Parts: sequence; structure tokens; C-alpha cells
Amino acid sequence: MRTPVIAGNWKLFKNLSETRELLQELAPRVAGVSGVEIIVAPVFTALTTAVQAAMGTTIRVAAQDCFWEEEGAFTGEVAPGLLKDAGCSHVIIGHSERRQYFGETDATVNRKIKAACAAGLTVLFCVGETLAEREAGTTFTVIETQLRTGLAGVTAADLQRLIIAYEPVWAIGTGKTASNEQAQEVHARIRTLLVSLYDQAAADALRILYGGSVKPENIRGLMGQQDIDGALVGGASLKADSFAAIVRFQ
Ligand code: PGA
Repeated sequence: MRTPVIAGNWKLFKNLSETRELLQELAPRVAGVSGVEIIVAPVFTALTTAVQAAMGTTIRVAAQDCFWEEEGAFTGEVAPGLLKDAGCSHVIIGHSERRQYFGETDATVNRKIKAACAAGLTVLFCVGETLAEREAGTTFTVIETQLRTGLAGVTAADLQRLIIAYEPVWAIGTGKTASNEQAQEVHARIRTLLVSLYDQAAADALRILYGGSVKPENIRGLMGQQDIDGALVGGASLKADSFAAIVRFQ
């Protein structure tokens, strides 16, 4: 009932020619795949190049972050409307690396989500606990706070523009994936929280992706879980063969 989403977060990798090349390699490898939404998120400077290279394919382009104002004296920032103007359909907001290294908070995530929805972008909203938080048994408290604050004032209509990505910080770039059961447990609790914040129909319709060391070898097991609706892929999205294999999990 929920269309799976496979999104590649290219982080700070790939210049213009590498972006074009990777999309040229990827396009034929995912051609003919139906029933899966495919997204790639290159660096800001490569967004228009990616949009052009993806034209005529089913691959959509996301930015990795955005600001919450549309214009003004905000040196260095990029507005959601400008991403839309550049041809992006999606934006990642609240990635743990932004929270960890760039002062992103639940409050700034919330402002960004609302601004991105208002600009007509679909948001990939990232949440997840650190290793210390998991070991302290606070995984779901942390995620609940991230979700409640991040979604404050987000209407049911805007929720349709949202995709949630659960990414345990300890599984990102470490080669350690959450087990299928660990991931499913958190995804199910996220969906239950969404029922209480919105309603059953809205929660049932929302896609919840898993992220953290997703590879061709583990995608099938993850996708077999009831509440896992796709993946946000870092390292394995940087090579056409491995990303295409993840897209073709079925
Ligand atoms: P990874 O990154 O797949 O390299 O662990 C995932 C992410 O940060 O979105």
C-alpha cells in the first residue's frame, strides 16, 4: 500500500562531472523498475546538473538541507523555494551529521520542515539515537522528542509531504546495521506515535525509511519488515551497481 522509497545521500562527495557520470551509469541500471521511488541527493553545486542528468528517468533529486526563510540577509543559506526552482522535488532535513557538526536542533529542524513543505518540497525528515542513548535505554524517548518537536505545527496536509527516515547514529557509516528486528521495533513505535499526533490513516500512509549501513546484502531483510518502507543510503549510493541493486531489492 505504501510505495517504497530508496534515497541516496551522496553527502560531500561527487563534483559536477562525477555527478553526471554516476547518474548516467545509474539510469540504465534502474530503468524499468516500477513501484519504487528513487531519489538522489547530491551537493548543492551539483543539483541542477543532477536534475538535467536525471531528465527522462524516474530518478528524483533532493537537496541535503535548506534554510527556513525564503530570502533576506542570510549569507550562505539556500531557501527551499530556490531548491524547487533548481528542479529539486525533495530535501533531507535533520540528518544526524547536521545535528552533530552544524548545530541543527529539533527547533531548527521544525522551522525547516514547515518552510520546505510551504515551498512544495517533499521532506526526508531524519531522526535517530546515538549509541550512548541506545545503551542508556532512551532510544524511543529521544526519537519521540525529535518527532514531536520536529512536527510541531505541521498540519495533516503537510504530513503528506513528509517521509521519515529512522537512522540510528551508531549505524551510519560504521558498517553496523540495526538488526531487522531492532529497526522494525523503532519503526512501529514511530508509526504508533504518528497515530496519536495525527490519525490512523495518516500514520498508515506515511513512509518510514531505515538508514545506516544499508547495502545490497541487507536491504531485502529490512524491506521484509512490516513498517520499513524504504532506505536512506549513504556509502552504498555512491556506486551505480550497489545503489541499483538496493533499488532492485524485490
Ligand atoms: P551510510 O549513511 O549508508 O553510509 O551508513 C546513511 C546516511 O547517513 O544517510
